[in-house]
Amino acid sequence: MKLGVCPICSGKTARKRVDLTESVKGRLVVIKSVKAEVCSQCGERLYSQDEMQKIDAFLRKVKTGSVKPRSRKQVEVYSLGY
Ligand SMILES: [Zn+2]
Repeated sequence: MKLGVCPICSGKTARKRVDLTESVKGRLVVIKSVKAEVCSQCGERLYSQDEMQKIDAFLRKVKTGSVKPRSRKQVEVYSLGY
């Protein structure tokens, strides 16, 4: 992966901190301030291998309940009606 270039649209990417939303056992969880390269054109997020491993390891902890959430928020769920 070429750094600074989006593999999808070839737009420029910039280092940012993003909130990652994942589904864990049917619950939505958010991990804040994950390091990512974000495409300025299409919004694609790219994570370094190092960061992906950290995220995976952390999500395992979330699954086993060995970490406690910092806060809880209500999530609004909608559907397009299909
Ligand atoms: Zn892009």
